[in-house]
Amino acid sequence: MEVLRVEHLSKLYGSGETVVKALDDISFSVKKGEFVAIVGPSGSGKSTLLHLLGGVDRPTSGKVLVENTDVYQQNETQLAIFRRRQIGLIYQFYNLIPVLNVEENITLPLLLDGHKVDENQLHTIVKILGLTDRLSHLPNQLSGGQQQRVSIGRALIHNPTIMLADEPTGNLDSKNSNEIIELLKMFNKTYSQTLIVITHDERIALQADKIIEIEDGRITRNELIRA
Ligand code: ADP
Ligand code: ADP
Repeated sequence: MEVLRVEHLSKLYGSGETVVKALDDISFSVKKGEFVAIVGPSGSGKSTLLHLLGGVDRPTSGKVLVENTDVYQQNETQLAIFRRRQIGLIYQFYNLIPVLNVEENITLPLLLDGHKVDENQLHTIVKILGLTDRLSHLPNQLSGGQQQRVSIGRALIHNPTIMLADEPTGNLDSKNSNEIIELLKMFNKTYSQTLIVITHDERIALQADKIIEIEDGRITRNELIRA
């Protein structure tokens, strides 16, 4: 089943003489449960693409369809709800809220939506992430690997349709990088959690089902490496 379809997506920044074409007519699709790696040189448009998939920015032209919803046909209110419920975002520098503890950071998306925390679900996620004895710690009391595990928890708490990660291991040593990728793969395989990861690390890209390479805002490779 297809969960994501991108059609002729383009994004220009600026205007007139200073216009930058960050994405130029990108099209591809992703199936439920797929693990897709997005690779390519710095400045090629990878982060722009991820933001457009996540409803964070608006395209100049083209469409993003998530479970057949045309993401950018929605108004701002609908888009905000889409981002919270359907997208789980993971960043290189975690983006945790420093004054909230681990449990509060993970459950924040639910509370923002007026939903009760499902204690069973919370404890299952926290246990898998190895954070059970860290729930009342603040982010600055945690290692980088632990902070990234908290951000994975926050991304998963809403059972998102798609998990998007922008260089999730870019700030971690190889041991912690491996742990983070193993966790993301575990949720991908065990729960069929669709996963799209931007990475510079070839060893990570080679673990994906599909590699999409972007150069100068265009797809130069879209290869299924695992069925
Ligand atoms: P990557 O993630 O592959 O490094 P980006 O998507 O960040 O690439 O950037 C693609 C191009 O768009 C680059 O030329 C970058 O300088 C430009 N760009 C990105 N964001 C902005 C912005 N907010 N305003 C202007 N130009 C931008
Ligand atoms: P891990 O490998 O499990 O991510 P580390 O070996 O880096 O963790 O750290 C061990 C312990 O030291 C962690 O459980 C964490 O509580 C604490 N710690 C690590 N880095 C920091 C830091 N920058 N500030 C405060 N505490 C830290």
